[in-house]
Amino acid sequence: MRSVLPPGIARRLWQVMAGGGILATVVYTVFPSSVLSNVAFAGLAVTVVAACFIGPRRWAAEPPSAWRSMAAAALLFMIGVLIRPTVTDMAMPWPLLADAASFSGYLLLGVFVLILLHRRGSLDRHAALDGLTVCLSAGVASTLLLALPAAAIADRDPVLSLIQGTYPLFDIMLALLTVNLTFTAKHWPVSLIGLLTMMIGIFVGDLAYAIEGVSGKIYGSPLLNVPFMLAYTALGVAALHPSVADMGRAAKPPVQAWSWPRMSLLLPALAVPYALLLTPVSRSATGRNLIAVAGCLSVALLLIRAVSAVRAQVAAQLRSEHQATHDPLTGLPNRQSMTSQIARLVTVADPEGHDRVWVYMLDLDGFKWVNDSWGHDTGDQLVIEVGRRLRSTVPGSIPVSRVGGDEFLLGFIGEKGGALRLVDDIRGCFARPFTVRDHDVVISASIGISHAEGDPDNATVTAEALMRDADTAMYRAKGEGPGRSTIFDTSMHAQVRERIELEVALRQALADEQLHVAYQPIVRLESGIPVGAEALVRWLHPERGAIPPMTFIPIAEDAGLITAIGTWVRKEALRQLGVWRSEGTVGDDFYLSINVSPRQLSDPELPLIVSGEMMRYGVPPHCVALEMTESVMVDGSSVTSRVLFELRELGVKLLIDDFGTGFSALGYLRRFPVTGVKIDRSFVTGLGVNHEDDEIVRAVVAMSHALGLSVIAEGVETPLQREALYAVGVVNGQGWLWGAAVPAPEFAQRWRDVVLRGPEIPAIVSNPSGRHRRPD
Ligand code: C2E
Ligand code: MG
Ligand code: MG
Repeated sequence: MRSVLPPGIARRLWQVMAGGGILATVVYTVFPSSVLSNVAFAGLAVTVVAACFIGPRRWAAEPPSAWRSMAAAALLFMIGVLIRPTVTDMAMPWPLLADAASFSGYLLLGVFVLILLHRRGSLDRHAALDGLTVCLSAGVASTLLLALPAAAIADRDPVLSLIQGTYPLFDIMLALLTVNLTFTAKHWPVSLIGLLTMMIGIFVGDLAYAIEGVSGKIYGSPLLNVPFMLAYTALGVAALHPSVADMGRAAKPPVQAWSWPRMSLLLPALAVPYALLLTPVSRSATGRNLIAVAGCLSVALLLIRAVSAVRAQVAAQLRSEHQATHDPLTGLPNRQSMTSQIARLVTVADPEGHDRVWVYMLDLDGFKWVNDSWGHDTGDQLVIEVGRRLRSTVPGSIPVSRVGGDEFLLGFIGEKGGALRLVDDIRGCFARPFTVRDHDVVISASIGISHAEGDPDNATVTAEALMRDADTAMYRAKGEGPGRSTIFDTSMHAQVRERIELEVALRQALADEQLHVAYQPIVRLESGIPVGAEALVRWLHPERGAIPPMTFIPIAEDAGLITAIGTWVRKEALRQLGVWRSEGTVGDDFYLSINVSPRQLSDPELPLIVSGEMMRYGVPPHCVALEMTESVMVDGSSVTSRVLFELRELGVKLLIDDFGTGFSALGYLRRFPVTGVKIDRSFVTGLGVNHEDDEIVRAVVAMSHALGLSVIAEGVETPLQREALYAVGVVNGQGWLWGAAVPAPEFAQRWRDVVLRGPEIPAIVSNPSGRHRRPD
């Protein structure tokens, strides 16, 4: 079907259906009791049966079984209506044939509505109880007013009469189900309106039949069928309209309150038995008995409904209390409830003795990378797993809560030994990788710990202070590297304040142009002649003077300022190099080495931006090196990896800064397009004195040569270190031996001096090892 009908036509079919239905009804009304009217009726019914297959299939309405049973119901109704005039006057049990068809039709119609209700999640206990109450009243009323009088008609079979009176009862039940459908609908699409119209049509038709039935007629004028024809038309429209797909979609039931629309159905329903007492039907014993039973039942239903409502209220309250005190993701207590749990521990702890309250604040290291590389769903899953593992590892008496994105808080009461053992337990949770959506995620947590004596009088204040201090200690632990733990001490407060002040000042610094770039030469060890320079950012604070990058770069990273700073430094350095090149200050191969932080490398636009800047300042790619730490490659997301490859394709050098201080796994050197390493200062310091450092540098050089990487030694301060580096085959070095980082004019002056007068530091004459293969 989907492929046969063009979408434009399929979209308009319901209008054709509406027009056709009305036309058939007009024909039926104008030529009653004729062959033509029968053809119109049957034609309409068969079309609608087909529509119940075609529409839902075209618009992918779920579930198809619902619409199949509706189609069957429509077919059965048609059979019932068409055979009724013929069978009514036959002997029993023939007349029952029409009713058998109609009854089965009702059953299937009921099934249809029930399936839809189920699909939409709209079946609700309270709605059902309310429905039953209304049904009961309508049932007793229709029995007493319609069915019993019909049954009392002497000259026909009482079974037949009774059956006639029960039709409106069916209708009432179906109408209630449909009303439930509307109660729980958020909006009213055409299909829903169509179904409601169908129900009204059926109800009016059946009521008309039943009223006729009281006067003894089972089958009166064929015009009684007009409402059914309209019902068919409405059903056809409902099935063919595109909104038929919405009928089976979950519409979350709103709170089933006794709303005014519902009360306007319920109140008359409850009054029905009493109102019936005032009518003649209560004069007979059967009538009175029926009214009494219905009255009792409706009171019982009312009571059940009331009790159930109260219970639901209590359950809702408990649920909302749980929601207010628990984290929805992990199900662990949230910060608010953790505060009161820690306050409780503070009241229990010993005011002077050994048992203190310990609070642990955990923050996952590199969680942002997990989120960025694998998506937030995986991040959420990881948080759930961490929560689960923490909860199952530490004893049940120790409260564990989630207090932020990737932050967990634990509380413990006891002496120091126990408190430290708990740190080991927590660390143990992170020893094994977490399996999240088929990925093995290795992650550590930084732990900040605070502790206090018991203080029943100020429990909440102490609890809040403990949590704040644990947080401060956690930040300190983070600063020391991943997987560390730190116990709070009061000096940390001052540090935190200082850090916040610096962050504010740094934002200002960018705007006020307090930053500038200094250049430190990178030289050939052999000749002492610079081959390039590293661009290093400097911050001159108007009051505090020079603030070292080691202090403000980490703050910039945390505060999200590093991209802005890094971009500014890179632009400025490239601009400067462009000027030096055009002035002839530096040679054609002189390169600038620029530091980039991990966050900059996660910007997919970076290669494009860098290539634009190089073009703008007339700097060829081989004159640009980007320095990054090993962590970039170890934690690297797929975006970072792509950025690195694209940068390398541009032709810029990629150097690993502070090489040797980070990770022991060196596989990334082969996986990523790295061109060189900068041996960290810490290894250079001990050269010629510490044998181990000699060996490490020797190994790094051997490995780099094997992989075709260039080597630069950082922090070369003494001739002795230079000799030792040269002896193991290092080609280039950087350090105070040749000069610290200086502003651009000063750097240019020195460079000119070197070119004119030769290097101040004498060149190495011999080449003792012959290992110098890459004069990069
Ligand atoms: P780095 O990239 O390893 O830079 C080398 C650091 O060693 C510089 O410190 C430099 O002044 C210092 N240094 C150079 N020679 C010697 C020496 O002989 N002895 C000693 N003891 N130190 C020496 P600086 O300028 O304080 O920068 C520190 C770090 O801040 C840099 O380490 C780099 O990681 C970061 N940094 C500096 N500028 C930027 C930047 O523009 N962007 C980013 N992301 N980081 C930067
Ligand atoms: Mg560097
Ligand atoms: Mg370095």
